[in-house]
Amino acid sequence: MTPLIIRFGIRPILWLLLVGSMAACALAWVGSVQFAEARLAQLIEREQAQAQAKAELASANLSQRLVQARSIASTLAQYQTIQAVLGRFGPHVQPSPLPLQERGDRWRADPVLQPLARGLAQTVEKFGLTMLWVTNAAGDTVMEGHIPDIHPFTGTNYADRAYFKAAQQGLDGHQFAVGRVSNLYGLFFSSPVLVDGQFVGIVGAGLAVSKLSPVIDIKELNAVVTDDLGVVVLAHDPALLMRTMPGATVGALPAGKRDLRYRRQQFEAVDLIPTAADGSPSRAQWHYLGRPHVMGNHPTSDGALRVYVLRDLGALLARSERDQLWWFGLVGAMVWLSAALAAGAAQYVITTQQQQIALQTLNQVLAHQANTDALTGCANRRHFMHALNQEFHRSSRYGVDFCVLSADIDHFKRVNDTYGHAAGDEVLRHFVATIQSHLRGTDLLGRLGGEEFSILLPQTSEDGGAMMAERLRAAVEASPALFGTTRIAITVSIGGVPSQAGSVHGVDAMLACADAALYAAKQGGRNRVVWVRQSPPENAEKERAG
Ligand code: GH3
Ligand code: MG
Ligand code: MG
Repeated sequence: MTPLIIRFGIRPILWLLLVGSMAACALAWVGSVQFAEARLAQLIEREQAQAQAKAELASANLSQRLVQARSIASTLAQYQTIQAVLGRFGPHVQPSPLPLQERGDRWRADPVLQPLARGLAQTVEKFGLTMLWVTNAAGDTVMEGHIPDIHPFTGTNYADRAYFKAAQQGLDGHQFAVGRVSNLYGLFFSSPVLVDGQFVGIVGAGLAVSKLSPVIDIKELNAVVTDDLGVVVLAHDPALLMRTMPGATVGALPAGKRDLRYRRQQFEAVDLIPTAADGSPSRAQWHYLGRPHVMGNHPTSDGALRVYVLRDLGALLARSERDQLWWFGLVGAMVWLSAALAAGAAQYVITTQQQQIALQTLNQVLAHQANTDALTGCANRRHFMHALNQEFHRSSRYGVDFCVLSADIDHFKRVNDTYGHAAGDEVLRHFVATIQSHLRGTDLLGRLGGEEFSILLPQTSEDGGAMMAERLRAAVEASPALFGTTRIAITVSIGGVPSQAGSVHGVDAMLACADAALYAAKQGGRNRVVWVRQSPPENAEKERAG
């Protein structure tokens, strides 16, 4: 039976592999998308956590800096020299009626205040502050120390500042403000100076917000710092300054106060848009300048500032997409490679099987050719002798009788001479066909040479064999060959021998016996059967004439 793979060929296998590979690729795509999404969500969460951690660290660093500025103010407020100077103005002093320039000049030239102001300037330098100043109970600045590039502000009144008002209540104050004279974005801290329990003024410490940049490495972190109302006071990009972060409360401040504190009333929001709230990975994301970001934020310990750290997800998203495509490409390539290998293997199996079948067929043809007489199609001498040998051994072993006939067409030479060689060949073919039509499947007709044939009759008794021989002889006689339109009548002489014949010891002897009987038949006038009888061998020959 032909194997299925040969019967249907490579095509269905190719289709199967094609469909299978496509399905595998579709699965790989879905899988890679899901894998990439899950991984991306994880990475975004990590980025988010990092942004938060960095915001917390930065705000801790900031807090330290702010606490230092605040503590310098409160330490100075305890100084007796400062208390003495402010005590001179007293708790009930009124704002100076002198013009700003004049009162400033006067206090700057004051021999008591001057050295103190120098001390303030040294402290500013030493602690990396921007300014230190002292106001009297009316809010007039009586002395100051500051970094070089700041316009002197001695004489300026700050009674309207929130930090001043807090100090008036005996509290430490702090506030972000845009410097009235300095025009500086600064954080201002105040500490009340009390003499005999009475408020006589404040010590103020100012820290320019720009000084905080290195403290939190604002550029590296892509950080934005807002004051307590959500207004950006420090950012790497100066365009972000004075803009509001999401959730800013500066709008709730009355316009007048806004103006006082920031010297402006309008605040534009930072370009931060929350991305869609549905997809889980994008839940915590913001579009900042059109690019996806995550953001962490944390306030300083006193709540004066809040640090926002933005982390750009653009590269992450692009990489995730690239990774997904790579992964898909890899799996896809593996799928198609496997499919190609499977197709190759199938093709190899088919080709080998086909070759095997062709070889088997060829072997069969060759075997047939090796065993068959080319002219008549009956067994040739080789095959016949082989079969005869086998039957002989079988017979000796199991004691089963068989018979061998030798047959020779009578006066065959005449046929050739009269009708030609081709006619002779046709007669030979006809003769074989006639004989074979009377034989059993197990019988074997062999052409031993020329027009001489032998017939093996297995499992046949002497009587059966003799009967068969006579039947064959009669059949040949009764069935002339037809060559074209010419009928050519022939007869055959047959010599037969049974396996039980006493003189028979081996196939050659048997054939010789049959030939001898055939010779006797020729001698006896042809067209007859001569049978070698079983025993005794002396009178074994019996002639039957047709
Ligand atoms: P007998 O009755 O004594 O057997 O006479 P015969 O003529 O048949 O015997 P003989 O042995 O004298 O002649 C056999 C002839 O068979 C001789 C040969 O040319 C012819 N012959 C042998 N093989 C073939 C063959 O394959 N084809 C043809 N056409 N003739 C063949
Ligand atoms: Mg002959
Ligand atoms: Mg002959």
